[in-house]
Amino acid sequence: KEKQISACRYVGWITNPYPVFLPSRGPKVTYVPPPLPEDEDTIFAHYASGINFNKYDDILVDVSGLNPPQAIYTFKEACLCESLERNVAKSGYVKPTPVQKHGIPIIAAGRDIMACAQTGSGKTAAFLLPILQKLMADGVAASSFSEQQEPEAIIVAPTRELINQIFLEARKFAHGTCVRPVVLYGGISTGHQIRDLLRGCNVLCGTPGRLMDMIGRGKVGLTKLRYLVMDEADRMLDMGFEPEMRRLVGSPGMPSKEERQTLMFSATYPEDIQRMAGDFLKKDYLFLAVGVVGGACSDVEQKLVQVTKFSKRDQLLDILKNTGTERTMVFVETKRQADFIAAFLCQENVATTSIHGDREQREREQALGDFRSGKCPVLVATSVAARGLDIKDVQHVVNFDLPNNIDDYVHRIGRTGRCGNTGQAVSFYDPEQDNQLARSLVKILCSAQQEVPSWLEQSALGAHGTSGFNPVGRVFASTDSRKTGGFQSGGSDQSSAAPSAAADEEEWE
Ligand code: AMP
Repeated sequence: KEKQISACRYVGWITNPYPVFLPSRGPKVTYVPPPLPEDEDTIFAHYASGINFNKYDDILVDVSGLNPPQAIYTFKEACLCESLERNVAKSGYVKPTPVQKHGIPIIAAGRDIMACAQTGSGKTAAFLLPILQKLMADGVAASSFSEQQEPEAIIVAPTRELINQIFLEARKFAHGTCVRPVVLYGGISTGHQIRDLLRGCNVLCGTPGRLMDMIGRGKVGLTKLRYLVMDEADRMLDMGFEPEMRRLVGSPGMPSKEERQTLMFSATYPEDIQRMAGDFLKKDYLFLAVGVVGGACSDVEQKLVQVTKFSKRDQLLDILKNTGTERTMVFVETKRQADFIAAFLCQENVATTSIHGDREQREREQALGDFRSGKCPVLVATSVAARGLDIKDVQHVVNFDLPNNIDDYVHRIGRTGRCGNTGQAVSFYDPEQDNQLARSLVKILCSAQQEVPSWLEQSALGAHGTSGFNPVGRVFASTDSRKTGGFQSGGSDQSSAAPSAAADEEEWE
């Protein structure tokens, strides 16, 4: 954090109790991404939902808080205006997923929400659709006549690639309407982004650093804001981003939490983060839990393999020989390791690319593009790619290094098994390194009805602080921390608020 702050330029204390820090002016970023395709085939391109899509309906849903509105069962019941309904249909959505069935009416009713649903189960549309519906119904339209844009909605997410993906979803649903989404994130020419912003902005998608930069420059005003969305909310409120989020809600012009709607979405919610989230939400917010809070996607077949430090590379090669050209994400813990493993695989003639926080934005976008297109079917990644990314046909995830945090594990394996499709995750477990994760892994495997290797159960029983630990005791109840005073997550017995390797990959800008 200190490193971050010292790399920042302070811009204003008098008007704002949470001063705004702008990233220091290092070498000027000149990268301008290629223009977005305008043809409908590209805008509405989507992959098919999988054989387990209908099984989403069997997942237990719990809504807690006073007077929750009725769930909807069809998009018709959401009463979307014609253009939005058409865009939903063009996106291939036939019926809403559980988080949409419950989330859309909650947001449409003007309520704040903390929503938890498994990876890949449609959280993005659950917040975008009711926001866009309201803006369209109210007839808001982007105006390019102002030097300061005042968006009605701001969406924040922790990484550049994720916020860009959310922006593309917003652009897709708003296609052909007067509502204009804009995206802001680091690694791209600021001048280019300002010019784009000033063409009009109703829905602003941003990573925290670049967003605060634009607010500090006076290019973004907050007085018209009605919706503040935190995607990957637990990450946005953990130690790395929390000060940024507090600065954002304390910025001049930002409506108080009573005057705006605040929406939080994630697949994981450690209890301490839930408590802190209450600072940002109205008192009567609704807690929506689809399935086990913090639980892994049950469409992902999870396998744990015991390894030693020195056997990992060969074991990875063996796996990749079998996966062939099927898309595989290989997660490692450090940026150096990402470069090292990617170079090793290339030497072994496996078409591989890599993504991590030290690569230039141009390279990151190229890497993701090559992976998406299948040119490089293997992507070696740090936790920067662990959350939210929705890439067609990712069949395998390999945890070459396990993360030091169970929530990161849940998000990483969630890059496969999306939208009712099935996927496979193999994780290398080095007893010398990964013992602290044993208990949480057993819980996650159990709650997703996966086989638990006996050696892992033994490690869990022997692990530090296991008194009363019942490895096969399944916790299916969803949990709102307000209800219990305690917490019974499916897996989050380790707090995500603790610094994780992901913190090393923070998208400060
Ligand atoms: P998300 O969890 O929001 O990243 O969504 C995961 C994937 O499911 C994305 O490719 C979405 O476009 C897709 N999706 C979301 N909701 C639906 C739906 N109701 N019907 C079909 N596909 C959906």
